[in-house]
Amino acid sequence: MRKKITQAIKWLMGTAEYAWGGFGYDPEECIVLCLHSTPHAFLPQLEKTINWLKREFTILSPDDFERYCAGELKSGPYVLFTFDDGIRNNYAAAELLHRKGIHAYFFVVPAFVESVNPKSYYLEHIRPIVDSSFENKPVDFEALQIAELLAMRSMGHRIGSHSSTHDLAAHMTEAQTIHEIVDSKAWLAERLNAPITAFCSPNNTNFSINSFGKKLIQEHYSYHFTTFPGPQNRPMDTHLILRRNIELNWSLGQIKFALGKWDLKRWQAAIQTYKDL
Ligand SMILES: [Zn+2]
Repeated sequence: MRKKITQAIKWLMGTAEYAWGGFGYDPEECIVLCLHSTPHAFLPQLEKTINWLKREFTILSPDDFERYCAGELKSGPYVLFTFDDGIRNNYAAAELLHRKGIHAYFFVVPAFVESVNPKSYYLEHIRPIVDSSFENKPVDFEALQIAELLAMRSMGHRIGSHSSTHDLAAHMTEAQTIHEIVDSKAWLAERLNAPITAFCSPNNTNFSINSFGKKLIQEHYSYHFTTFPGPQNRPMDTHLILRRNIELNWSLGQIKFALGKWDLKRWQAAIQTYKDL
């Protein structure tokens, strides 16, 4: 009940803010979207969201995003799609995006890819609470496999690390942190025969990354996608990329709320904590 009321409030606020005159983002702003599971039954919602985003934003590919970070693109506002966790249902989403000329980042977890019992891995290490009206097919609890990741790469998508196990936590030892951040890059680079330049911290960046982890990410990756929300403007800090979480079972009003500005202020303190590490 409480969840329904929150959803209704977000829908109302998002619809109202948008109706009031759009988001008013300036042409240099970029919103990095963060999605997770993409169950097949919800792909029409992904298509609807893309069609709406196309009217409001220029959608960047990972290559374009690198150019944006380098200060080269100035006729936005922009959005970039990123998908966390490497769930197997993302493959159909990757195909849909590709058909629409859109390319995205997919952040995967090597131990989930290798797991012999992916459903229990998913429930234990990635998402302990699932919404069965959203995720209910076997493919919603399996990991993208190497052959699929290679096919996604040849479509034009980019694969990044989401840590070795998804358990990365700020209290881990240095050896464990190296395993999560550095070994996951080597594991992916070897199997995909490609440079892995992007890392996406799992869970909550403030809980998963300590100062040692932050330094390792800076040394081993060019881009760090965090869990902190926000639109961003230049100059870009490519090691503190802010993202806005949306999910395919959200209404368009909720998505508008997520992309708006009303919800941003309360995150400033959390972002500052990370900057001060
Ligand atoms: Zn995750």
